[in-house]
Amino acid sequence: MKIRVAVLGAGFGGLELATTLSEAVGDKVEVTLIDKSDSFVFGYSKLDVMFARTTLDAVRLPYRAIAKPGVRFLRETITAIDPDKRTVSTDSGLYEADVLVVALGADYDLDATPGLAEGGGEFYSVAGAQRLSEVLPRFSRGRALIGVCGAPFKCPPAPSETALLLHDYLSTRGVRGDCEISFVLPLGSPVPPSPDTSRALEAAFVERDIRFVPGRRVSSLDPTRGVAVLDDGSEMTYDIFLGVPKHRAPDVVIESGMTEDGYIPVDSKTLETRFPGVYAVGDVATVGAPKAGVFAEGAARVVAASLIASIRGGEQPASYDGRGICFIEFGAGRIGRVEVDFLSGPKPTGSFGAPSEALAADKLHFGVSRRARWFDR
Ligand SMILES: Cc1cc2nc3c(=O)[nH]c(=O)nc-3n(C[C@H](O)[C@H](O)[C@H](O)COP(=O)(O)OP(=O)(O)OC[C@H]3O[C@@H](n4cnc5c(N)ncnc54)[C@H](O)[C@@H]3O)c2cc1C
Repeated sequence: MKIRVAVLGAGFGGLELATTLSEAVGDKVEVTLIDKSDSFVFGYSKLDVMFARTTLDAVRLPYRAIAKPGVRFLRETITAIDPDKRTVSTDSGLYEADVLVVALGADYDLDATPGLAEGGGEFYSVAGAQRLSEVLPRFSRGRALIGVCGAPFKCPPAPSETALLLHDYLSTRGVRGDCEISFVLPLGSPVPPSPDTSRALEAAFVERDIRFVPGRRVSSLDPTRGVAVLDDGSEMTYDIFLGVPKHRAPDVVIESGMTEDGYIPVDSKTLETRFPGVYAVGDVATVGAPKAGVFAEGAARVVAASLIASIRGGEQPASYDGRGICFIEFGAGRIGRVEVDFLSGPKPTGSFGAPSEALAADKLHFGVSRRARWFDR
């Protein structure tokens, strides 16, 4: 009998899990990989789309390309999850599984920030980044505000990258001198586990005359006045708002009864939930590491290794370590790197690799290697 593994969500976590299982035990598993989308887009590609460095068509990776032994991809919307029975309902059917892995990511809660839906652009969804790519060419004078509306949020360095890339974008168009850039972040520094990375980013903001407001979040917008209200009641005016919405687990996950404090609690060593045979990886889980693709991928590898060991009868893998490498765009084609470790020591640590063109090549390799493994392209 083949083990039936239902992987809910084909993002960083789900794709890595399905691929690893297929490579190692493709003849012994039946992996059902379910996603409502027709394609995967790397998070960082949204910045490239927003700043017109590429097109959406060029960065979209269609799921129909997935052809892996032991894996079937279903483009369906998950409507209910029963973690006790390990069943999943979709808009097309009901699936039973021996092992359920929830990898549904985090959704955006635009309504949590009054005024955001009407008056501000968010750039964290593909549609939002695409919309801003159409608005930005008309912004040639005035105040740009990059504002984060709540924490935790995906890829903590991404809003800092946005500020630096916006500087480049406006400079290239010859209008930087007529524009102000401000950046509001609820964290105390751009990358808290790595003071060196934070210092380098803050120095880059100063060099480029970007006003950085740490330790504050945008709590509402008044689009008619062009005003963002921060959580201390202070106000900042804007002509264009580039927002990171508040995040939350997808409704279907909340309705399944698996969440606590908004996300699914897991054993940080094994990614097991309190439901036998049910795991959660990536942004949907609370594991003690940030919400980023590299951590979703690392968690998926631990779950895959554990399932492979059970199938083959080998030793269980080492615990999840919460380590990951993030590349950070500093602009002008230079990319820095932060290597963070969230779980192996008493507190998170991070080491900084200064921005360079060589690291830009490493980031390119990061994307190309995943595309090749996950999509055979
Ligand atoms: C601007 C930006 C830049 C980023 N840069 C980086 C970076 O440089 N490095 C990095 O590591 N991370 C980066 N990230 C973060 C990264 O994209 C996410 O953390 C990562 O995708 C999380 O992986 P995941 O598998 O948990 O969820 P996701 O990749 O979000 O996948 C979840 C999947 O579930 C599907 N889904 C949700 N609900 C349903 C449903 N009801 N039915 C069916 N399917 C459903 C979704 O369609 C989605 O495909 C960035 C994010 C953004 C927004």
